[in-house]
Amino acid sequence: MEIQQLTKEIRNSYLERMKVRSPEKLATSWYQEDLLYEGKGKSLFVIVPTPGCSWALGDGGGCTMCSYISDCTLEPIDKNTIINLFKNELKKHLDEIKVDGKEMPIAIKIFASGSFLNPQEVPVETRNKILKIVSEVDQIKEVIVESRPEYVKKEVLEEIFSIIKNKLFEVSIGLESQDDFIREEKINKGFTKEDFEKAVNIIKEIDHEDNEYTAKCKAYIFVKPILTSEKEAIEEAKNTAKYAEDVGVDRISFCPATIHKGTLIERLWRKGSYKPPWIWSVVAIINDARKNISIPTFMDTSGFGSRRGPYNCKKCNKDLKHAIIKATLQQKPIEDYECQCKKEWVSEIKSSNLNKSKTKTKHLPLI
Ligand code: SF4
Ligand SMILES: [Zn+2]
Repeated sequence: MEIQQLTKEIRNSYLERMKVRSPEKLATSWYQEDLLYEGKGKSLFVIVPTPGCSWALGDGGGCTMCSYISDCTLEPIDKNTIINLFKNELKKHLDEIKVDGKEMPIAIKIFASGSFLNPQEVPVETRNKILKIVSEVDQIKEVIVESRPEYVKKEVLEEIFSIIKNKLFEVSIGLESQDDFIREEKINKGFTKEDFEKAVNIIKEIDHEDNEYTAKCKAYIFVKPILTSEKEAIEEAKNTAKYAEDVGVDRISFCPATIHKGTLIERLWRKGSYKPPWIWSVVAIINDARKNISIPTFMDTSGFGSRRGPYNCKKCNKDLKHAIIKATLQQKPIEDYECQCKKEWVSEIKSSNLNKSKTKTKHLPLI
């Protein structure tokens, strides 16, 4: 498939130049305010070092916008090293978690820069040891991991719950788009809607069974893939949110495009054939979700207002970013905000199909 070849070529040339860091340099964590299933609380984010996403390292070449691979070692890591690094990161925040846990719910988000449930990326023994450590912290009520749908299996979830027992467990899956053509040809995701629905159903089955387990599912939605106009990007994000809710997803997180190194999206951006979305488009998506979607919806604001991220103008970038963060925590719409640059956005939306590139992926002048 052309998109896979192209992504693979770009990925390989980046991997040749990439500076690989040690697991010690890659492990990191931060602790911040968040909206949990139980309400307002705090989340500890821990990045565990891994060799890298199998989809990005394999023949598929990975997704057109993702550079998580640059946060990986590209080679196997000793199991004890990963576990010890995880322990260290948790230890840094444990005192605070214990105090906060008396007043608010606490979640842990364990990110593996790929699929936590893929044994090639996080060996089963390592995964279970990490979860065992988490299970011993009473204050942590919710455990969140990310995975591609093909690794979501009933027996894997049952094994996880046998360790974490009654803590809530959420699998976040990068659905990105409800449209198979967009997901396949513009994002190069490598799985179908059926694959996604199968994973959601496995999670829901466990959740509904007569047991103490609480299993949840979150969908990531990518805002503005390549070769997509501003208007189409908004519509597609709205449609995908509706689809995700209809198939039974519990929460949604929108991820507006930012340009990461060594990706196809970056190649197009450098050639002037791609621009990340306006923050106004993001606002439109949030406000639509508040009206039409009843499950919680989140917005990833990383990269907002930067050269490589969603952008409006210097006057309103920061204000809107803060308004979006606040609106996410409160699950409210963003109202009554005006700036001169809005006119420009409106005219781009109106003429959207005129300035959309019609060039097919295989004909792009990428070299
Ligand atoms: S988005 Fe996920 S599946 Fe796609 S390349 Fe990145 S880590 Fe791998
Ligand atoms: Zn502005």
